[in-house]
Amino acid sequence: MVSGEGIRRCVVCHAPLEGERYARTSFCSNRCRKIDLARWLNEEYRIREEGENATESDEEASGFGQGDEQ
Ligand SMILES: [Zn+2]
Repeated sequence: MVSGEGIRRCVVCHAPLEGERYARTSFCSNRCRKIDLARWLNEEYRIREEGENATESDEEASGFGQGDEQ
């Protein structure tokens, strides 16, 4: 599915990616590629840190519908 005019843009700096040399990349340059990679690594670290404390124990509260037929 192609949206708009079909012009792809660098996911980091939003520069237009025109030409065949960008056919297989979402970045306008190696610099932007590295920036995006660094972002992903930071996100991953953050998710791991938060994830250790965030255990999904919300299922206890999902007892709706049972014993509620009075
Ligand atoms: Zn870029």
